[in-house]
Amino acid sequence: MGETTKFLLPESEIPERWYNIAADLPKGPPPVLHPGTQQPIGPQDLAPLFPMELIKQEVSTERYIDIPDEVREVYKLWRPTPLIRARRLEKALGTPAHIYFKYEGASPVGSHKPNTAVAQAYYNKQEGITRLTTETGAGQWGTALAMACNFFGMELKIYMVKVSYGQKPYRRSMMQLYGANVVASPSADTEAGRAILAEMPDTPGSLGIAISEAVEDAAKRDDTKYSLGSVLNHVLMHQTIIGQEALRQMELAGEYPDVVIGCAGGGSNLAGIAFPFMRERLVAGKKTRFIAVEPEACPSLTKGEYRYDFGDTAGMTPLVKMYTLGHTFIPEGIHAGGLRYHGMANLICELYDQGLMEARAYHQNTVFEAAVQFTRAEAIVPAPESAHAIRAAIDEALAAKQSGDKKVILFNLSGHGYFDMTAYDNYLAGKLQDFAYPEQKVREAMQQVPVIA
Ligand SMILES: *Cc1c(COP(=O)(O)O)cnc(C)c1O
Repeated sequence: MGETTKFLLPESEIPERWYNIAADLPKGPPPVLHPGTQQPIGPQDLAPLFPMELIKQEVSTERYIDIPDEVREVYKLWRPTPLIRARRLEKALGTPAHIYFKYEGASPVGSHKPNTAVAQAYYNKQEGITRLTTETGAGQWGTALAMACNFFGMELKIYMVKVSYGQKPYRRSMMQLYGANVVASPSADTEAGRAILAEMPDTPGSLGIAISEAVEDAAKRDDTKYSLGSVLNHVLMHQTIIGQEALRQMELAGEYPDVVIGCAGGGSNLAGIAFPFMRERLVAGKKTRFIAVEPEACPSLTKGEYRYDFGDTAGMTPLVKMYTLGHTFIPEGIHAGGLRYHGMANLICELYDQGLMEARAYHQNTVFEAAVQFTRAEAIVPAPESAHAIRAAIDEALAAKQSGDKKVILFNLSGHGYFDMTAYDNYLAGKLQDFAYPEQKVREAMQQVPVIA
């Protein structure tokens, strides 16, 4: 029968605990600050927006947190996800490297996002919340939370970034199919949205703006809380089931990765695949490299500054220390909508700052070239976001070919691209634009970032 291509685990091996990297970091994360007083915040400051259990997880230093049975039951619909050896891609590249990818597009909504959406909806429901608000970029997060809210019988209002609302109409349909209420952001439904519309009626929108709207909506109502699809510590922790499964699957393959790669918008899918392997590096002395891949149009790690900034455009969220391009920065409307975020999860930033994580940025045409090469070899059409990781994996494999190195590459295929056909059409027609690094816009946005001693 030849050699194994797909490494599968039974449902009984769905992880029972999430892994919290805060327990193993050489240096703890810096405190989160109140947007008004700029002093470290306590749990009560976050209570209007999040249920207490998630606030506890956000600041926890416990190494492992048990996954509730109700959440694992839902995970069974798609987990464990397959680990696939990209044998045809290796052959097409003529590389001695072994390339593996973890396929999170196998979830019902097509990405890693439901790993945390289900957990967040569950904890909100437990604490008597009946309605959630959120933002979504490309629509992956909105779809995931819509699915989760549907399972737990909760209402959901989604502020969808306007450029994506136009580019991905079927993502909107899918959210509505699960029963969610979707509006294009900036919208006329919130003060933040109305203020931005008055100032910039033609703005493509941004994740930062949509977050402002969703946060304002949740803060105004007692029955409503807010849910974020990335960036926060608890969100990254929920995603670690990806890496825990992958560790086990690499064992089945009889190999260990020399390099682990993920695309990075807010940092959650990268953290999901990387943190369990990072633990092996921190605790067991493994030498694995880690690479965060971002778009040249929104390069927060590679070009941003590591300082305190707001998570949203209006400056309503707590101040978090992160590599940022400035909370008022609005990136060009690239097709990888999920990577259009001005900042990055603090945990990823800390690892990058401490030299434990590398980062690189690519233009979208070279990313789509890699996506097409991957599709022709492995048949799965990747999400434009995930294709950033593919670009880096291919480049690592080509470098291995140059050096004759038999290195083992693992990347996270965070989602499929079956709702991104407009982007592929544009690429095939030669109509995709590469945007130069927006130096002037970033300089202006950085002037809006509060100076904190
Ligand atoms: C949302 C999304 C991303 C970007 O978010 P991260 O938090 O950085 O993972 C990447 N890939 C896909 C498929 C997504 O849906």
